[in-house]
Amino acid sequence: MSEYMIFNLVPTFHEAPISLNLFLKDTSSFLKRLNAEQADKKYILYPKQSKEMKRYLEQAEGDTIITYLPMETAGAFVYGNKTAVVRVIDGEKPLPTGVNDELPVFSAEEFSDIDIKTVIIGGNAKKKGTFTFSKKITPRAILDQCSSVKEWKGIYFGYPMGKMLGANQLDEEIELTTDYIHIFDETDCILDQLYKIAERYSKESCGRCVYGFEGVTQINMILSDLVMKKGKSEDIELLLDLCSVMETQALCDIGASAARTVLTALQNFREEVEEHVAKKNCRAVICVKYVTYHILADLCTGCTDCVDACEDDAILGKKKFVHVIDQDECIQCGACMAACEEGAIVKAGAVKPKTPKKPVPCG
Ligand code: SF4
Ligand code: SF4
Repeated sequence: MSEYMIFNLVPTFHEAPISLNLFLKDTSSFLKRLNAEQADKKYILYPKQSKEMKRYLEQAEGDTIITYLPMETAGAFVYGNKTAVVRVIDGEKPLPTGVNDELPVFSAEEFSDIDIKTVIIGGNAKKKGTFTFSKKITPRAILDQCSSVKEWKGIYFGYPMGKMLGANQLDEEIELTTDYIHIFDETDCILDQLYKIAERYSKESCGRCVYGFEGVTQINMILSDLVMKKGKSEDIELLLDLCSVMETQALCDIGASAARTVLTALQNFREEVEEHVAKKNCRAVICVKYVTYHILADLCTGCTDCVDACEDDAILGKKKFVHVIDQDECIQCGACMAACEEGAIVKAGAVKPKTPKKPVPCG
Protein backbone atom coordinates (compact mmCIF):
# COMPACT_ATOMS: atom_id res chain seq x y z
CA MET A 1 0.00 0.00 0.00
CA SER A 2 1.38 3.39 -0.88
CA GLU A 3 1.75 5.82 1.97
CA TYR A 4 -0.22 8.64 0.35
CA MET A 5 -2.01 9.73 -2.81
CA ILE A 6 -2.62 13.27 -3.94
CA PHE A 7 -5.43 14.32 -6.26
CA ASN A 8 -4.65 17.63 -7.73
CA LEU A 9 -7.55 19.79 -8.87
CA VAL A 10 -5.55 23.03 -9.07
CA PRO A 11 -5.35 24.08 -12.72
CA THR A 12 -2.11 25.04 -14.42
CA PHE A 13 -4.05 27.60 -16.50
CA HIS A 14 -6.65 29.46 -14.43
CA GLU A 15 -8.72 29.74 -17.64
CA ALA A 16 -8.72 25.95 -18.05
CA PRO A 17 -9.80 24.30 -14.75
CA ILE A 18 -10.15 20.89 -16.39
CA SER A 19 -9.63 18.60 -13.38
CA LEU A 20 -11.68 20.79 -11.05
CA ASN A 21 -14.62 20.74 -13.47
CA LEU A 22 -14.36 16.97 -13.94
CA PHE A 23 -14.39 16.44 -10.18
CA LEU A 24 -17.35 18.77 -9.59
CA LYS A 25 -19.31 17.22 -12.45
CA ASP A 26 -19.50 13.87 -10.71
CA THR A 27 -18.07 14.01 -7.20
CA SER A 28 -19.79 10.91 -5.89
CA SER A 29 -18.38 8.48 -8.47
CA PHE A 30 -14.96 10.15 -8.23
CA LEU A 31 -14.91 9.77 -4.44
CA LYS A 32 -16.18 6.20 -4.67
CA ARG A 33 -13.22 5.27 -6.86
CA LEU A 34 -10.87 7.28 -4.69
CA ASN A 35 -12.02 5.45 -1.55
CA ALA A 36 -11.34 2.14 -3.25
CA GLU A 37 -7.68 3.10 -3.80
CA GLN A 38 -5.09 1.61 -1.43
CA ALA A 39 -3.26 4.39 0.41
CA ASP A 40 -2.83 5.41 4.06
CA LYS A 41 -3.61 9.04 3.38
CA LYS A 42 -5.41 10.76 0.54
CA TYR A 43 -5.34 14.43 -0.25
CA ILE A 44 -7.36 16.59 -2.60
CA LEU A 45 -5.76 19.90 -3.54
CA TYR A 46 -8.14 22.55 -4.85
CA PRO A 47 -8.02 26.28 -5.70
CA LYS A 48 -9.23 28.24 -2.68
CA GLN A 49 -11.01 30.78 -4.92
CA SER A 50 -13.37 28.19 -6.38
CA LYS A 51 -16.92 29.06 -5.25
CA GLU A 52 -18.23 25.74 -6.60
CA MET A 53 -15.70 23.83 -4.50
CA LYS A 54 -16.59 25.90 -1.44
CA ARG A 55 -20.28 25.08 -1.96
CA TYR A 56 -19.45 21.42 -2.40
CA LEU A 57 -17.35 21.29 0.80
CA GLU A 58 -20.09 23.01 2.83
CA GLN A 59 -22.46 20.19 1.91
CA ALA A 60 -19.98 17.30 1.86
CA GLU A 61 -20.15 14.67 4.56
CA GLY A 62 -17.06 14.40 6.76
CA ASP A 63 -14.45 11.98 5.48
CA THR A 64 -11.63 10.87 7.73
CA ILE A 65 -9.50 9.43 4.94
CA ILE A 66 -9.48 12.39 2.56
CA THR A 67 -7.92 15.70 3.54
CA TYR A 68 -8.94 18.71 1.44
CA LEU A 69 -6.17 21.29 1.06
CA PRO A 70 -7.09 24.74 -0.29
CA MET A 71 -4.40 26.37 -2.44
CA GLU A 72 -4.15 30.15 -2.62
CA THR A 73 -3.90 30.25 -6.40
CA ALA A 74 -6.58 29.91 -9.06
CA GLY A 75 -3.96 28.34 -11.31
CA ALA A 76 -0.20 28.11 -11.75
CA PHE A 77 2.23 26.10 -13.86
CA VAL A 78 3.92 24.58 -10.77
CA TYR A 79 0.82 22.47 -10.16
CA GLY A 80 1.72 20.54 -13.28
CA ASN A 81 4.94 19.41 -11.57
CA LYS A 82 4.57 16.45 -9.20
CA THR A 83 7.64 17.28 -7.07
CA ALA A 84 6.11 20.71 -6.36
CA VAL A 85 2.73 19.26 -5.46
CA VAL A 86 4.04 16.74 -2.88
CA ARG A 87 5.70 19.55 -0.91
CA VAL A 88 2.26 20.93 -0.13
CA ILE A 89 1.33 18.04 2.16
CA ASP A 90 4.35 18.91 4.34
CA GLY A 91 3.06 22.48 4.61
CA GLU A 92 5.67 23.84 2.20
CA LYS A 93 5.28 26.07 -0.83
CA PRO A 94 4.70 24.22 -4.13
CA LEU A 95 8.15 24.67 -5.67
CA PRO A 96 9.58 22.12 -8.12
CA THR A 97 12.68 20.17 -7.12
CA GLY A 98 13.03 18.39 -10.45
CA VAL A 99 10.89 16.05 -12.50
CA ASN A 100 9.55 12.80 -11.04
CA ASP A 101 6.52 11.38 -12.78
CA GLU A 102 6.51 8.29 -10.51
CA LEU A 103 5.16 10.24 -7.54
CA PRO A 104 1.58 9.33 -6.52
CA VAL A 105 0.07 12.60 -7.71
CA PHE A 106 -2.88 12.52 -10.11
CA SER A 107 -5.14 14.98 -11.82
CA ALA A 108 -8.83 14.10 -11.76
CA GLU A 109 -8.47 13.50 -15.46
CA GLU A 110 -5.60 11.01 -15.13
CA PHE A 111 -7.60 9.22 -12.49
CA SER A 112 -10.72 9.03 -14.65
CA ASP A 113 -9.46 8.08 -18.09
CA ILE A 114 -5.92 7.83 -19.29
CA ASP A 115 -6.74 7.74 -23.00
CA ILE A 116 -8.63 10.99 -23.41
CA LYS A 117 -7.69 14.60 -22.76
CA THR A 118 -10.04 17.50 -22.14
CA VAL A 119 -8.76 20.91 -23.21
CA ILE A 120 -9.94 24.49 -23.45
CA ILE A 121 -9.44 26.00 -26.90
CA GLY A 122 -9.09 29.77 -27.14
CA GLY A 123 -7.72 32.44 -29.44
CA ASN A 124 -9.05 32.91 -32.96
CA ALA A 125 -10.67 29.51 -33.29
CA LYS A 126 -14.05 29.37 -34.99
CA LYS A 127 -15.42 27.25 -32.16
CA LYS A 128 -13.96 27.85 -28.69
CA GLY A 129 -14.46 26.25 -25.29
CA THR A 130 -14.13 22.74 -23.93
CA PHE A 131 -13.19 19.84 -26.22
CA THR A 132 -12.29 16.23 -25.55
CA PHE A 133 -9.73 14.46 -27.71
CA SER A 134 -7.85 11.23 -27.82
CA LYS A 135 -4.46 11.69 -26.12
CA LYS A 136 -2.61 10.63 -29.25
CA ILE A 137 -3.78 13.01 -31.93
CA THR A 138 -2.68 15.15 -34.86
CA PRO A 139 -3.08 18.96 -34.98
CA ARG A 140 -5.23 18.45 -38.09
CA ALA A 141 -7.76 16.40 -36.10
CA ILE A 142 -7.94 19.18 -33.50
CA LEU A 143 -8.38 21.87 -36.15
CA ASP A 144 -11.13 19.84 -37.82
CA GLN A 145 -13.13 20.25 -34.61
CA CYS A 146 -12.56 23.93 -33.89
CA SER A 147 -11.45 25.77 -37.03
CA SER A 148 -10.64 25.23 -40.64
CA VAL A 149 -7.18 25.00 -42.13
CA LYS A 150 -8.03 28.04 -44.28
CA GLU A 151 -8.69 30.22 -41.26
CA TRP A 152 -5.74 28.96 -39.35
CA LYS A 153 -2.10 30.07 -39.15
CA GLY A 154 -0.62 28.50 -36.03
CA ILE A 155 -1.59 26.34 -33.07
CA TYR A 156 -0.06 26.78 -29.62
CA PHE A 157 -0.07 23.90 -27.15
CA GLY A 158 0.38 25.41 -23.69
CA TYR A 159 2.44 24.25 -20.72
CA PRO A 160 3.79 21.60 -20.25
CA MET A 161 3.91 20.86 -24.00
CA GLY A 162 5.14 24.29 -25.10
CA LYS A 163 4.78 23.93 -28.86
CA MET A 164 3.86 26.48 -31.47
CA LEU A 165 3.20 24.54 -34.63
CA GLY A 166 2.65 25.60 -38.23
CA ALA A 167 1.13 24.16 -41.38
CA ASN A 168 3.96 21.71 -42.08
CA GLN A 169 3.25 19.71 -38.90
CA LEU A 170 -0.47 19.19 -39.28
CA ASP A 171 -0.22 15.43 -39.61
CA GLU A 172 2.48 14.67 -37.04
CA GLU A 173 1.01 12.75 -34.11
CA ILE A 174 1.44 14.43 -30.74
CA GLU A 175 0.85 13.39 -27.14
CA LEU A 176 -1.72 15.83 -25.80
CA THR A 177 -0.85 16.78 -22.21
CA THR A 178 -1.76 20.46 -21.95
CA ASP A 179 -5.04 21.87 -20.66
CA TYR A 180 -4.95 24.85 -23.01
CA ILE A 181 -4.68 25.29 -26.79
CA HIS A 182 -4.62 28.64 -28.58
CA ILE A 183 -5.39 29.05 -32.28
CA PHE A 184 -3.77 31.83 -34.30
CA ASP A 185 -4.97 33.23 -37.59
CA GLU A 186 -3.64 35.84 -40.04
CA THR A 187 -4.77 38.68 -37.78
CA ASP A 188 -2.32 37.50 -35.09
CA CYS A 189 1.35 38.42 -35.02
CA ILE A 190 3.46 35.45 -33.96
CA LEU A 191 6.09 37.71 -32.33
CA ASP A 192 3.45 39.55 -30.32
CA GLN A 193 1.89 36.24 -29.20
CA LEU A 194 5.29 34.77 -28.34
CA TYR A 195 6.10 37.80 -26.21
CA LYS A 196 2.77 37.47 -24.34
CA ILE A 197 3.48 33.77 -23.71
CA ALA A 198 7.02 34.57 -22.49
CA GLU A 199 5.65 37.22 -20.13
CA ARG A 200 3.39 34.60 -18.61
CA TYR A 201 6.29 32.20 -18.16
CA SER A 202 8.33 34.91 -16.45
CA LYS A 203 5.53 35.29 -13.89
CA GLU A 204 5.30 31.51 -13.43
CA SER A 205 9.02 30.80 -13.04
CA CYS A 206 9.83 30.10 -9.36
CA GLY A 207 13.44 31.30 -9.44
CA ARG A 208 14.98 28.05 -8.16
CA CYS A 209 17.17 27.31 -11.16
CA VAL A 210 19.41 29.54 -13.22
CA TYR A 211 18.43 28.07 -16.59
CA GLY A 212 14.73 28.30 -15.86
CA PHE A 213 14.53 31.68 -14.16
CA GLU A 214 17.39 33.57 -15.81
CA GLY A 215 16.65 31.90 -19.13
CA VAL A 216 13.00 32.95 -19.09
CA THR A 217 14.04 36.48 -18.04
CA GLN A 218 16.48 36.68 -20.97
CA ILE A 219 13.90 35.33 -23.43
CA ASN A 220 11.49 37.97 -22.23
CA MET A 221 14.03 40.79 -22.63
CA ILE A 222 15.02 39.76 -26.15
CA LEU A 223 11.40 39.38 -27.27
CA SER A 224 10.54 42.71 -25.66
CA ASP A 225 13.31 44.39 -27.70
CA LEU A 226 12.01 42.77 -30.88
CA VAL A 227 8.42 43.85 -30.18
CA MET A 228 9.56 47.39 -29.28
CA LYS A 229 11.50 47.79 -32.55
CA LYS A 230 14.84 47.69 -30.73
CA GLY A 231 15.80 44.20 -31.92
CA LYS A 232 19.01 43.31 -33.74
CA SER A 233 19.52 40.72 -36.45
CA GLU A 234 21.61 38.54 -34.11
CA ASP A 235 18.76 38.32 -31.57
CA ILE A 236 17.15 35.37 -33.36
CA GLU A 237 20.35 33.27 -33.15
CA LEU A 238 20.74 34.33 -29.53
CA LEU A 239 17.24 33.06 -28.75
CA LEU A 240 17.94 29.77 -30.51
CA ASP A 241 21.21 29.23 -28.59
CA LEU A 242 19.70 30.18 -25.25
CA CYS A 243 16.56 28.05 -25.66
CA SER A 244 18.47 24.97 -26.88
CA VAL A 245 20.45 24.97 -23.61
CA MET A 246 17.44 25.83 -21.45
CA GLU A 247 15.33 23.03 -22.86
CA THR A 248 17.71 20.40 -21.49
CA GLN A 249 19.17 22.16 -18.43
CA ALA A 250 16.16 23.77 -16.71
CA LEU A 251 15.25 22.04 -13.45
CA CYS A 252 11.61 21.48 -14.34
CA ASP A 253 9.14 21.62 -17.21
CA ILE A 254 8.42 25.33 -16.76
CA GLY A 255 11.83 26.44 -18.09
CA ALA A 256 11.94 23.63 -20.64
CA SER A 257 8.45 24.35 -21.91
CA ALA A 258 9.17 28.09 -22.27
CA ALA A 259 12.28 27.25 -24.29
CA ARG A 260 10.42 24.74 -26.46
CA THR A 261 7.74 27.32 -27.25
CA VAL A 262 10.34 29.76 -28.58
CA LEU A 263 12.24 27.05 -30.47
CA THR A 264 9.14 25.71 -32.21
CA ALA A 265 7.85 29.22 -32.96
CA LEU A 266 11.17 30.15 -34.61
CA GLN A 267 11.30 26.84 -36.43
CA ASN A 268 7.86 27.45 -37.94
CA PHE A 269 7.54 31.24 -38.12
CA ARG A 270 11.11 32.52 -38.30
CA GLU A 271 10.50 34.57 -41.46
CA GLU A 272 7.64 36.46 -39.83
CA VAL A 273 9.67 37.20 -36.69
CA GLU A 274 12.76 38.21 -38.72
CA GLU A 275 10.72 40.60 -40.84
CA HIS A 276 10.29 42.80 -37.77
CA VAL A 277 14.04 43.36 -37.65
CA ALA A 278 15.03 43.17 -41.31
CA LYS A 279 12.10 45.07 -42.86
CA LYS A 280 10.77 46.90 -39.80
CA ASN A 281 7.47 45.33 -40.66
CA CYS A 282 4.80 43.55 -38.61
CA ARG A 283 2.84 41.74 -41.30
CA ALA A 284 -0.24 41.35 -39.10
CA VAL A 285 -0.07 45.11 -38.26
CA ILE A 286 -0.28 44.32 -34.56
CA CYS A 287 3.04 45.32 -32.91
CA VAL A 288 2.38 48.93 -31.94
CA LYS A 289 5.89 50.21 -32.69
CA TYR A 290 5.67 48.95 -36.27
CA VAL A 291 2.26 50.46 -36.93
CA THR A 292 1.15 53.96 -38.01
CA TYR A 293 -2.38 55.42 -38.18
CA HIS A 294 -3.64 57.39 -41.18
CA ILE A 295 -6.80 59.24 -42.18
CA LEU A 296 -8.12 58.48 -45.67
CA ALA A 297 -9.09 61.71 -47.46
CA ASP A 298 -12.00 60.25 -49.44
CA LEU A 299 -13.72 58.90 -46.31
CA CYS A 300 -13.11 61.70 -43.81
CA THR A 301 -16.15 64.01 -43.38
CA GLY A 302 -14.36 66.43 -41.07
CA CYS A 303 -16.59 65.70 -38.08
CA THR A 304 -13.74 66.22 -35.55
CA ASP A 305 -14.71 63.16 -33.43
CA CYS A 306 -11.17 61.82 -33.73
CA VAL A 307 -9.69 65.09 -32.43
CA ASP A 308 -11.81 64.73 -29.30
CA ALA A 309 -10.72 61.09 -28.86
CA CYS A 310 -6.98 61.83 -29.19
CA GLU A 311 -5.50 62.61 -25.79
CA ASP A 312 -2.13 63.39 -27.33
CA ASP A 313 -3.30 66.24 -29.58
CA ALA A 314 -1.86 64.38 -32.54
CA ILE A 315 -4.68 65.14 -35.00
CA LEU A 316 -4.81 68.31 -37.06
CA GLY A 317 -8.05 69.59 -38.62
CA LYS A 318 -11.29 71.48 -38.13
CA LYS A 319 -14.98 71.04 -39.13
CA LYS A 320 -15.43 69.93 -42.77
CA PHE A 321 -11.68 69.56 -43.30
CA VAL A 322 -9.93 66.27 -43.99
CA HIS A 323 -8.02 65.56 -40.80
CA VAL A 324 -4.36 64.59 -40.66
CA ILE A 325 -2.39 62.64 -38.05
CA ASP A 326 0.91 64.14 -36.93
CA GLN A 327 3.11 61.03 -36.86
CA ASP A 328 5.65 62.71 -34.55
CA GLU A 329 2.99 63.19 -31.86
CA CYS A 330 1.01 59.96 -32.35
CA ILE A 331 1.61 57.21 -29.77
CA GLN A 332 -0.34 54.58 -31.77
CA CYS A 333 -3.04 54.10 -29.10
CA GLY A 334 -5.80 53.50 -31.66
CA ALA A 335 -8.42 55.64 -29.82
CA CYS A 336 -9.12 57.72 -32.95
CA MET A 337 -9.78 54.65 -35.08
CA ALA A 338 -12.34 53.42 -32.56
CA ALA A 339 -13.99 56.87 -32.51
CA CYS A 340 -14.29 57.37 -36.28
CA GLU A 341 -17.73 56.19 -37.41
CA GLU A 342 -16.85 56.72 -41.08
CA GLY A 343 -14.09 54.09 -41.06
CA ALA A 344 -11.73 56.79 -42.34
CA ILE A 345 -8.84 55.87 -40.01
CA VAL A 346 -6.67 52.90 -40.91
CA LYS A 347 -3.62 51.16 -39.48
CA ALA A 348 -0.64 50.55 -41.76
CA GLY A 349 2.55 48.52 -41.62
CA ALA A 350 5.43 48.98 -44.03
CA VAL A 351 3.12 50.18 -46.86
CA LYS A 352 1.44 53.48 -45.97
CA PRO A 353 -1.62 54.97 -47.73
CA LYS A 354 -1.26 58.33 -49.51
CA THR A 355 -2.81 61.08 -47.39
CA PRO A 356 -2.71 64.90 -47.42
CA LYS A 357 0.18 66.45 -45.48
CA LYS A 358 -2.06 69.20 -44.07
CA PRO A 359 -5.84 69.45 -43.49
CA VAL A 360 -7.69 70.29 -46.73
CA PRO A 361 -11.39 70.97 -47.31
CA CYS A 362 -13.52 67.81 -47.59
CA GLY A 363 -14.99 66.72 -50.94
S1 SF4 B 1 -11.19 60.90 -39.46
FE1 SF4 B 1 -13.22 60.15 -38.93
S2 SF4 B 1 -13.58 61.01 -36.88
FE2 SF4 B 1 -11.84 62.14 -37.76
S3 SF4 B 1 -12.76 63.93 -38.69
FE3 SF4 B 1 -12.58 62.38 -40.29
S4 SF4 B 1 -14.55 61.33 -40.29
FE4 SF4 B 1 -14.42 62.45 -38.36
S1 SF4 C 1 -3.54 56.59 -32.54
FE1 SF4 C 1 -3.90 57.60 -30.57
S2 SF4 C 1 -2.27 59.12 -30.42
FE2 SF4 C 1 -2.37 58.50 -32.56
S3 SF4 C 1 -3.70 59.99 -33.51
FE3 SF4 C 1 -4.98 58.24 -32.93
S4 SF4 C 1 -5.77 58.78 -30.88
FE4 SF4 C 1 -4.04 60.15 -31.31
